Amino acid sequence: MRRGHLSDTLRRALRALRDFIFPPMCLFCSRETLPGNSVCPDCAVTLPWLNEPFGSTVRAADGCDCLVAPLRYEGRVREAVWRMKFRGETQLIPGLAQLCVQAVSDLAPQEIFDLVVPVPLHRERLRERGYNQAALLARAIGKEIGVPVAEKVLVKHKASAVQHTLSLDQRKENVKGVYSLSGNVDQVKGKRVLLVDDIVTSGCTADACAKVLKSGQACRVVAVCVAHVENKS
Ligand SMILES: [Zn+2]
Repeated sequence: MRRGHLSDTLRRALRALRDFIFPPMCLFCSRETLPGNSVCPDCAVTLPWLNEPFGSTVRAADGCDCLVAPLRYEGRVREAVWRMKFRGETQLIPGLAQLCVQAVSDLAPQEIFDLVVPVPLHRERLRERGYNQAALLARAIGKEIGVPVAEKVLVKHKASAVQHTLSLDQRKENVKGVYSLSGNVDQVKGKRVLLVDDIVTSGCTADACAKVLKSGQACRVVAVCVAHVENKS
């Protein structure tokens, strides 16, 4: 993955300085970890990494071109995402964002991005929760790769049922007509977009958002999520 304007050397130097001042802690066990790593060596060998790059093959042209996630949504990963999402533990976000960036770098190294866009929350859900975890992840990812973030370019104008409780057909139906572009739609025209969400089940939400972005003439949409929920249906 090619990064933004700030050179990799400068970025590495700034990260080393930050790690010196605030030694990094492992996301999953809170022990001190190696500089530049959000996961300690012990957790790194025991976490439920996805064996195969999830959805890394080219997808339908009107949906996501590529969809990647580093981890399976189970055990400690599920707990960390839940803490980030429902308990306001936003200190986990930079580390989770780093895992997403690493997954995109490993699985889609040829990709270049102009814009990072989070999957939006419906305004009622946003009011209840107080923040959109996907937007916070997108900000951290944008900062990490030096690419601007457009938080309001997509809007969710219909509250929908939680995707991972539904069957595949229900999920496809559930996201139909739910997302649209807002504000200055020229923001996405000709852009290579990195779409960000916390979890992915079938990819229906990411595909629905990618279709909307492409209706605004985004030329490519790659989606990244922290974890893949394996659904039986
Ligand atoms: Zn650990």
